[in-house]
Amino acid sequence: MIEKIITGRLKALTGLHIGSGDLTETTDSPVFRNSDGAIIIHGTAIAGSLRSLATRLASHFGFKECIALDENSSSKFCNCPVCNLFGSINSGKNSNEGTASKIWMSDAILENDSKTSIRDGVGIDRETRTSSRAAQAKYDLEVIPKDSVFSFKLAIEGGVTEEQEKILSCALAEWRKGRGYLGGNVARGLGNIQLIEIKVFSINLSSIENLMAFLKEDDPTKVADEEKGWLEVKTNSGRSLIKCSTNNEYLYNSFVQLDFTLKFTGGFVINDVLKAVQSGFDFCPRMENGNFVLPGSSLRGVIRSHAEKIARSLATLNSKNAYDFLMKCPACNPFAGKETPLTSCNILLREHKRKHKDEEIKDEQMCLACQFFGSSYKGSKMYVGDGYLIDSPKIKIMDFLAIDRFTGGVREGAKFDALVLWQPSFKVRIFIENPKEWQLGLLMLVLKDLKDGLISVGFGENKWLGKVIVENEAIKVGAISKDFIPSGLKISSSYEGIFNTQILKIDSISEPIELWVREFHNILSNFRRENNLVPTSDTYFKDDIPNLYPKEVGI
Ligand SMILES: [Zn+2]
Ligand SMILES: [Zn+2]
Repeated sequence: MIEKIITGRLKALTGLHIGSGDLTETTDSPVFRNSDGAIIIHGTAIAGSLRSLATRLASHFGFKECIALDENSSSKFCNCPVCNLFGSINSGKNSNEGTASKIWMSDAILENDSKTSIRDGVGIDRETRTSSRAAQAKYDLEVIPKDSVFSFKLAIEGGVTEEQEKILSCALAEWRKGRGYLGGNVARGLGNIQLIEIKVFSINLSSIENLMAFLKEDDPTKVADEEKGWLEVKTNSGRSLIKCSTNNEYLYNSFVQLDFTLKFTGGFVINDVLKAVQSGFDFCPRMENGNFVLPGSSLRGVIRSHAEKIARSLATLNSKNAYDFLMKCPACNPFAGKETPLTSCNILLREHKRKHKDEEIKDEQMCLACQFFGSSYKGSKMYVGDGYLIDSPKIKIMDFLAIDRFTGGVREGAKFDALVLWQPSFKVRIFIENPKEWQLGLLMLVLKDLKDGLISVGFGENKWLGKVIVENEAIKVGAISKDFIPSGLKISSSYEGIFNTQILKIDSISEPIELWVREFHNILSNFRRENNLVPTSDTYFKDDIPNLYPKEVGI
């Protein structure tokens, strides 16, 4: 019998895509709609994300660890508090083993008027910075815009234990702080959600009157009593249980959230093919629900590509010859094939897997860039959200000529126009779960170059387009216990949910940053590729750099 109902609203902090898997005429991957045509997020998708978060938090309280965290025993019956709350993943040998879910998540229905848009998925080549042929396996995605608001209703059956309530409240507390992620496109900058207006109601259905009122009432919270402060009380008592300081990277131990304004000093355009066709221009910035958007996937590509460049340049300085460099090569080219320079870890590992079928791929078998930013063998714990305009920039129309980089002449017929945002400022958020110190160090080096105007973002690298500076940077650091606070920082007196948190200005933490950068140098100089996982050829010691960085477009 239902004993508690938690209501609230899910707010999209970025665009969302929780796909239906169907194909339609306009997109390969539409979002779900109910029979009335209203956009919904299935309750199972929401519960699944909440469950995953709860699983990664539960053993911090000293509760039994879920077998879902252990790859080798995934077919066994699990009796952990999370499985007993959300329903067991595997039923056991005996029919009396296995538990049904004690919580019921309703489908979330879109409450405000939001127009979806179609986003296409063309990747950017790391080295040429143009859309890469390998990544041109293009597909379309229907995206629900930022600021969309969905209903949220979670019903809890009786018999839920105190420890399960703590786990659930601590997971919901994360969502309340805007650290919720939904859908399979988080790596593209989509899916960041916040749970707002949370209310908890308890229902006593033991009396016939209450039961009849409950059954007659469409809105069951009308016959329920609000339990004010439930979330705070349960979260605080959950936090007091934290004892674990084991460094299990499958658990949610810490986070770093970096917020900043990316200000273009000139023009900015990232092409939205669909908008371009509609507007009649060759290039047109991306727009969603009437607002211009800097896609998180594009910014992520820029950050990764620059981080790769920094790591490779430093490794080059420390290498005696081309082979030595390949042994130490800290960043593959994620789009490169087998025989191409700096072959991707994916290709090398696929070969390796063929010969060593039963071996698990370890982190150390990947280059540092793949360890940080992800590869086919390992997802990334780094999230780069879509950037949103914080001002209303001017719009300019610019004409371009394509220049041949070798002859310097104009390529025939290569003329195009673009709709350009003039000096726009975007608010950007980067979130990393369980960051390693060397990763923070590398990210800080990239941020420094961004601040110094050394990195351009978007289409057309020249003096008017894509040049950015960074303003108002702030870093929020959260740690489940003092063991997970990055070097150079102290435990603070403030908490968000169960995390000890502190918000710092980048300029005020130059000493900690120095420690992280030193750790990056340390990891980099000790990094060696395993014998059979060394890329076959490099480009840094040969003179084909112009081929790697062709400059095709100028004004
Ligand atoms: Zn379990
Ligand atoms: Zn790699």
